[in-house]
Amino acid sequence: MELWFSELHTPNVKFSIKVDRQLYAGRSEFQRIDIFDSKEFGRFLTLDGYMMLTEKDEFIYHEMITHVPLCVNPDVRNVLVIGGGDGGTVRELVRYPGIRHIDLVEIDELVVEVCRKYLPQTTGGLSDARVAIHYEDGLKFVRHAKDAYDLIIVDSTDPFGPGEGLFTKEFYGSCYKALREDGIMVNQHESPFYTQDAYAMQRAHKRIVSSFPISRVYQAHIPTYPSGHWLFGFASKKRHPVKDAHFTQWNALGLKTRYYNTQLHAGAFALPNYVEEMLRDVEP
Ligand code: SAM
Repeated sequence: MELWFSELHTPNVKFSIKVDRQLYAGRSEFQRIDIFDSKEFGRFLTLDGYMMLTEKDEFIYHEMITHVPLCVNPDVRNVLVIGGGDGGTVRELVRYPGIRHIDLVEIDELVVEVCRKYLPQTTGGLSDARVAIHYEDGLKFVRHAKDAYDLIIVDSTDPFGPGEGLFTKEFYGSCYKALREDGIMVNQHESPFYTQDAYAMQRAHKRIVSSFPISRVYQAHIPTYPSGHWLFGFASKKRHPVKDAHFTQWNALGLKTRYYNTQLHAGAFALPNYVEEMLRDVEP
């Protein structure tokens, strides 16, 4: 008998991966958690049946959510990561010797525990001495922070369930306050392709544009996310994501990456016309 994981990307489109075996199934107070193993994508994590990451393509998401802001501000010292309990974002951050402290705020302790056991590829950085893990709702945590971070990375689930609050105007306003005077916020920004995702993407952009003076969107190709065309938001108080990028300085760090490079950094902000139009439609 064959076992397949399937996720509906729309009511009419289904994405499936053939599964070798299920390694974990459980339920926390927040969500259902599953880990599968497969030939094509290696191990993968799903929450409430939605794909979070696979061993084969997680590098694309984690490199793009991390190295883009670090190239724009190579002097980042204090970082807040909201969500990201799989550890992939922290793994990339701890490669920067200049970073002094990382607060990881993950609502669900069980996600971290399960990923530590089944996804060592992403969780290694969580034991770095600069990392403090807080098991709290990111929306509540950030309310109490002021002028504290150079960079906030919102590595959340989609805008429903526990992740819903991380797409609100209140949340983006709190992030603005929690950032230092030249702070940057980067967030996973959904996909522009299918109608429901595009709507969530436009709604997030509308809210971020009204909270930050600089707000741009960049893209990456992530095969296991709906349509494979994924967006990230880059919002900041002062720094432009391309004009202020320190490409030479970033290259001098000598970090080995598999997806990110500084030419791709500039190119990722050049969006297809239909996406630019969607963004313009919700800008003031
Ligand atoms: N790369 C993934 C994606 O875009 O599909 C995100 C992965 S990461 C596993 C997302 C994490 O955000 C989950 O572990 C989830 O528990 C956490 N999360 C959801 N809502 C949260 C909230 N309000 N505060 C903190 N963490 C939250």
